Amino acid sequence: TTEIEFINVSKTYLNQQEVVNVLKGVSGKVEKGEIVTIIGPSGSGKSTILSLCNLLLTPDEGEVWIQGKDVGDWDIQTLRRQVGIAFQGAPMLTGTVQENLSLPKRLQGKTLENPKKYMEYVGLTEDLLLRQAKELSGGQRQRLSLARTLVNDPAILLLDEVTSALDSLSAHEVEELILRINRERQTTILWVTHDQSQAERVGDQTWLVIEGRIVEAAPTKQFFVKP
Ligand code: ADP
Ligand code: ADP
Repeated sequence: TTEIEFINVSKTYLNQQEVVNVLKGVSGKVEKGEIVTIIGPSGSGKSTILSLCNLLLTPDEGEVWIQGKDVGDWDIQTLRRQVGIAFQGAPMLTGTVQENLSLPKRLQGKTLENPKKYMEYVGLTEDLLLRQAKELSGGQRQRLSLARTLVNDPAILLLDEVTSALDSLSAHEVEELILRINRERQTTILWVTHDQSQAERVGDQTWLVIEGRIVEAAPTKQFFVKP
């Protein structure tokens, strides 16, 4: 089944009286359980594509469909539980690891039942729960950020350069973790990365975005075939 569909989506920003066309007629389809790697130069509109999937932004023209429903028809809180997002550098709030991990539940007026389960899943030891989140290493923070996203058991994950701030070992481990989440939970993933070899390793399909357009979209194996 189709999890995400972009139909001729355009998006403009007003930047000091000047209209900037960030996305110019983007169309694309993502099936359940697929990983789409999105590559392209900085400023080409990759993050904007992700932002349309959880209503951080709304399209000016065209439509975005999530699980067969126009994104505008979703209740925003429900949508954001279904569609998790994780960024580069994994921004953390002040407070302990446990407080950060349980944030999605606390926002719903609930408590997190089994924090240890999530720590274990992402390869963090439970003794870290009481530490200040800002004391964690970059790799640990990125894992915590993924764990926090998983607390809502999202069907869709939006990943924006989640490994680019990490050393190569941590980057590799976080990449493996994401692939495991995809395998075990059938999570559909839109994965923005500037790392072409990563895009090739992890993708089922790959989209190349240049100046607000998907200029090339293909199954990843085909995409990276050298002519
Ligand atoms: P990246 O290339 O990693 O996406 P950017 O530096 O382009 O990062 O943008 C970082 C953040 O700042 C993004 O969330 C983007 O939406 C926002 N941003 C980028 N350019 C502008 C701008 N001209 N005005 C306001 N916000 C911007
Ligand atoms: P990418 O993720 O490919 O680096 P973005 O989607 O972050 O690209 O940004 C695409 C373009 O939109 C950039 O030129 C950026 O400066 C501009 N932009 C992003 N967010 C904003 C914003 N909030 N206000 C104005 N311009 C923005």
